[in-house]
Amino acid sequence: MEFETLCLHADNNIKDEWGTLSMPICQSATFVHKSVDDNGEYSYSRLSNPTRSHLENTVKALENGSVCVAFSSGMAAITAVSKLFKNNDHIIASDDLYGGALRLFRNFSEIEGVEFDYIDTSNIDLVLGKIKKNTKAIYIETPSNPLMQVTDIRKVARIARENNLLLIVDNTFLTPYYQRPLELGADIVIHSGTKYLGGHNDSLAGFVVTKEKELGDRIIYISKTIGANLSPFDSFLIERGIKTLPIRMDRINDNAIKIAQFLSKEKKIKKVYYVGLESDKGYEINKSQSSGFGGMISIELESEELAKHVLGSVKIFQYAESLGGVDSLITYPMKQTHADLPKEERDKRGINERFLRLSIGIENVNDLIDDLKQALEV
Ligand SMILES: *Cc1c(COP(=O)(O)O)cnc(C)c1O
Repeated sequence: MEFETLCLHADNNIKDEWGTLSMPICQSATFVHKSVDDNGEYSYSRLSNPTRSHLENTVKALENGSVCVAFSSGMAAITAVSKLFKNNDHIIASDDLYGGALRLFRNFSEIEGVEFDYIDTSNIDLVLGKIKKNTKAIYIETPSNPLMQVTDIRKVARIARENNLLLIVDNTFLTPYYQRPLELGADIVIHSGTKYLGGHNDSLAGFVVTKEKELGDRIIYISKTIGANLSPFDSFLIERGIKTLPIRMDRINDNAIKIAQFLSKEKKIKKVYYVGLESDKGYEINKSQSSGFGGMISIELESEELAKHVLGSVKIFQYAESLGGVDSLITYPMKQTHADLPKEERDKRGINERFLRLSIGIENVNDLIDDLKQALEV
């Protein structure tokens, strides 16, 4: 089956007597055992639940993995992966990561004794130079949040393989519709399902998908132990979102290209970060490993005053945290997603008071461009 078909039919095996087409919300905490010797397929919803399993089968197929576990949020998924590591293990991570992942690594994993080096993983030599005896994994986002740095997944995967490290890729921004890291050599894919997979800004979810079954079994063990599993109702909503993932992504991608082109011609905008612009430094590598660019655009405006004016003047774009839904959103990373990062570090990387991030939705692109045009007029 092709990707678009998998989004609807990856798991057509709904076992009930009515011939239910959509997987029902199986709202039960526990399940009656068949007999003393036979617990049946399900026993307790923290371990597994039919609605969640159905969704996990779908996401597993989309990422072409062996095991998928659905969590109650992207952060719950990242936390589960972080539990694979212990005192004195060393991880090489991208220096431009989702703020919550950084907060988890700095304030929890590091305190538990896991060592981190945060570097620009788009520079392969830097990655090679950081490998030590106790290095266990490389953790990347590509394109990264919010600076859209692109890491060559195939090259980093080769380094990981040669050095016996796990390559972990947060694939939230491009989704498996555009990029499938496991096929490029990664070991673990993470998602915030809250974003494009769910796609409607109405529920939180996270996923971990592994290439190997054995590693997947460890994630299953961690998930049943920490218990941050996705509820049946949220599983239903995310599954429903996934049915339209390809057509949403197509529209979002088309809109984003046009908006990025418009923004790059605006004099009041100093820099546009979008991997779909041929002038972008990550364009070629991104193109070599994915079939689209996605809907995330960051911009640097000429002044803080203008950035604040835009946030206060947009009418269709909503000033709200998050991304990946059908509605276009605009965020102020300095105040929201990356507020916990020390100021000097933010400034060094360009996440300053003039920096905004856009998540392009599925509205009519001319309405979106007109909205930005009027918001840029002072
Ligand atoms: C939002 C996000 C997360 C965290 O996901 P939640 O569902 O909000 O917990 C992780 N990684 C990336 C790239 C994200 O955008």
